[in-house]
Parts: sequence; structure tokens; C-alpha cells
Amino acid sequence: MKIIVFDMDDTLYDEYTYVRSGFLEVASFLSDQLSEEQEVLFTWMWNRLHTTGRGTIFDDVLKEFNNYSALLVKNCVTIYRQHIPNIFLPQETINCLEQLKNFTLYLVTDGDKVVQHNKAQVLDLYDRMEHCYITHCYGIENAKPSPYCFLDLLKKESVESDDVVYIGDNPIKDFVGIKPFGFQTIRIMTGQHKDIEMPIEYEADHRISLLNELPSKLEEIWPEVKGMFL
Ligand SMILES: [Mg+2]
Repeated sequence: MKIIVFDMDDTLYDEYTYVRSGFLEVASFLSDQLSEEQEVLFTWMWNRLHTTGRGTIFDDVLKEFNNYSALLVKNCVTIYRQHIPNIFLPQETINCLEQLKNFTLYLVTDGDKVVQHNKAQVLDLYDRMEHCYITHCYGIENAKPSPYCFLDLLKKESVESDDVVYIGDNPIKDFVGIKPFGFQTIRIMTGQHKDIEMPIEYEADHRISLLNELPSKLEEIWPEVKGMFL
């Protein structure tokens, strides 16, 4: 039996669409608080994201519009994390997951529990996967690059690590922890990390540029799966 495990953000969908959804929600909340147009606040945060990143963006927008308070920052963070995101699986991902219906599929994703749960729910991944591992539910120390959830999966499915492939986008943490255990690894060259090159121990054994290349890559790794794709 072969098990196919996916990362979520920037592997199955574009994470910027989540950030956009969250910023729109926060901008709507702040437009009442600051008496500014939602669009103005959203655009300011969106531009800021692309210049200085996400780190202190709610602090920054409140300072920019002269309304900084620690409480308002906290409210923004809560709204961002708890909002039901307006995100969707691209058609290409849906096609890919449909083609893989003869396989057992899993998700292993890092990040805030509520945030990742809401994403997985909206993207219909609980129905599409055997199980969704949100690593932070197992303790922060078991987030990637920890192999904890992957080793748990081996026990659950009674399979060997070389019968399991992980598809992820982030060479900083997706592969380095599981390669020593013999898992198969595929890096998808999409999202925020696509231009990063890492030392060999961090890099996946294989690369694809888009999910539609996954079936042929799986056949290359496991010739016996030929004919299993729908
Ligand atoms: Mg990712």
C-alpha cells in the first residue's frame, strides 16, 4: 500500500489567498474603529505585506492611521485567526486529488490550530483525506521538521517509510526531518519559497513544478503504481 501525504499551504492552494481573506476581514473591523474605508486599510496592509512581511502588520497599520493600542492589535490578531476564510482549492488540485482516489491520502500541516483547522474545513480536506494532522495539536515540539506525525502515520497504517511520500513546498522544514527515516519526498515549486535553494539534506529527492505532474512522478518513484490513477 502507498500513502500520499500533502502539505497544505502553498502546496494545495496559494497561501496568499488566505492572507488576503484575513486582511479583508481585519480591514472591515478596523474601518469602523478608525473611520477609514475598508479598501484603503486593506490596500495599505497588502502593500506592506509585500515590502516588510506579516510580522507586525497590525501594529503598523494602527500606527499609520494614528490609532495604535495593544488591545486593538490583539483584536485584529483574533479576527484574523478566527475568521472563516474565503479560500478554495484550485481546479488543478481538485483534479489531482480525484486522480489519487485509489490511494490513501493524508495532510500534515503546521500552524495555529484554529487557523489550520478552518482552512482544512473550508478546503474540504477532512473529507478528501484519511486524516489531517495539524502538528500543533500534538505539541509545538512536534511541528515540522519533527517527524512525529509521519512516524505516527506509519504505525497507524502499518507501512514502511518508503511507501510514504510527502509533497511540500518549503525546503526549510518540510523534508529535512523525515528524509533520514527513509520517507519519499517531492518538492512542489510553488508559493513563497519557490526560489529558495537549500543544502542537499534539506531538499526533497524529487521536484515537480505543478500538481498535474504528480502522477508521472509517483510512477517514477514507484513503478508498481502505474494504472492506479483515475
Ligand atoms: Mg507549505
